[in-house]
Amino acid sequence: MAKTSKYDHYKPVPDLAEKINKKKKKPKLMAVVDEDNCTGCQVCVPFCPVDCIETVPVEKYGIPIPPVQIRFDECIGCQICARVCTKLTWDAIRMLPTEEFETLYEYTVTD
Ligand code: SF4
Ligand code: SF4
Repeated sequence: MAKTSKYDHYKPVPDLAEKINKKKKKPKLMAVVDEDNCTGCQVCVPFCPVDCIETVPVEKYGIPIPPVQIRFDECIGCQICARVCTKLTWDAIRMLPTEEFETLYEYTVTD
């Protein structure tokens, strides 16, 4: 019989990353935080396997709990943050195809 744990009700929330990795090639998808929807709760932060989610500098909005942002050049497009945010908090992260993201934001993701 499958082993049960007191955290079973959180499934299918992804597991926390066991170790921090690095990007090896340009990902197909890019995570984008909708800063207007993000509460700044930081629940997503420890789930990112490459540790590329950070708080927006306080000066940008001048509010006590700023939203988070993604360091795009490090994101591997794994979608974990988006799943975590949707399941546990507020649904504030969108996964965009990288090419679409680059056109929309006039930003070139390095690999
Ligand atoms: S879990 Fe969602 S609402 Fe919370 S900080 Fe991350 S993106 Fe923002
Ligand atoms: S998709 Fe989200 S969790 Fe995955 S690497 Fe990018 S920012 Fe981190």
